[in-house]
Amino acid sequence: MAEYVTIPLDIEGIKVDRVEVTGNGEVHIHVSSTVNGTRCHQCGRNTHRRYDEGREIKLRHLPILGMPTYIFLKPPRYICDDCPGNPTTTQHLP
Ligand SMILES: [Zn+2]
Repeated sequence: MAEYVTIPLDIEGIKVDRVEVTGNGEVHIHVSSTVNGTRCHQCGRNTHRRYDEGREIKLRHLPILGMPTYIFLKPPRYICDDCPGNPTTTQHLP
């Protein structure tokens, strides 16, 4: 179907990686975070050591051209070097 679609989301800290139209007529917008780092939930210090990605989140968006639209996002997780046990914190996005 659509070869290339540009959809401005206007969400700060988010970039659109790809947009696909599925066989059953849904628009899937895959986005990722452009923000690097987060604050440790235990000590409150900033950490930039990337651990992995959290579980993919599926969010409902307003329909585009009448097609059900979803946003997919894998929030990055960061590990804290300062805390005992090196806890991980999932980045919070707007
Ligand atoms: Zn910490």
